[in-house]
Amino acid sequence: MYSNIRIVLVGTSHPGNIGASARAMKNMCLDQLYLVSPGDFPCAEATARASGADDVLAKATVCGSLGEALKGCRLVVGASARLRSLDWPQLEPRECAARLVETAQQASVAVVFGREQSGLSNQELEQCQYLVHIPTNSEYSSLNLAAAVQVLAYEIHQAGRLITDSQAHKKGAQEAEGDLPASADDVALFHQHLEQTLQDIDFLNPKQPKLLMRRLKRLFYRASPDQTEINILRGFLSAIDRVASACRDRK
Ligand code: SAH
Repeated sequence: MYSNIRIVLVGTSHPGNIGASARAMKNMCLDQLYLVSPGDFPCAEATARASGADDVLAKATVCGSLGEALKGCRLVVGASARLRSLDWPQLEPRECAARLVETAQQASVAVVFGREQSGLSNQELEQCQYLVHIPTNSEYSSLNLAAAVQVLAYEIHQAGRLITDSQAHKKGAQEAEGDLPASADDVALFHQHLEQTLQDIDFLNPKQPKLLMRRLKRLFYRASPDQTEINILRGFLSAIDRVASACRDRK
């Protein structure tokens, strides 16, 4: 289960924070570290701060984009220091951990952390089904990156410990297998297809695409479609594409 849980650090500038995050993870049995465009890695400072968790650093996966790091994930949660102007589904850390652990019984999941200076961009947050915010002093809400990793890794480990009756759980997991949400990469392809089709039928103005697409993504994340449902939606879009192209040809 733990090996299905990815900790994704986006654009980390201080290598010390990467090392300290690896240490925080290993304390809580997590070892799948993904680094999206790190500022400086590998680096001696990261190894020093990992202090014994250098095995986690050594096998970290470095990616060029967030999409690459999320490939195959069925549940993606973005950690945000601020309560955003962006209205996105939110989870409390404890509930977030319970959901991650539940899905991780059968499939990969990810928690995404932002840059030290600027956090995650809206475009990156839109690749997450949920946001998780660690409740803090409302006037001083931004934790150090590795401290935020520690808090959420702790919650994940506690949620993992609650799964005691493994036999009963396995049975439940098998029953639920058909209901797994579609993977992050298939959902991203569906979003691209939807945006293209909506432009082609003049429903979406390419000069002003953001708000409408954001609302639609939020709607589909709420519905949490499984693989079959995503395939149906893609087929539905393809049928619209065919009719639209026939109409254009007739003109
Ligand atoms: N100045 C940045 C904060 C970056 S802290 C900003 O205002 O967005 C680096 C990362 O640590 C954040 O992107 C987030 O992923 C995580 N983090 C820090 N404090 C957090 C909190 N209170 N809740 C959840 N994540 C937090």
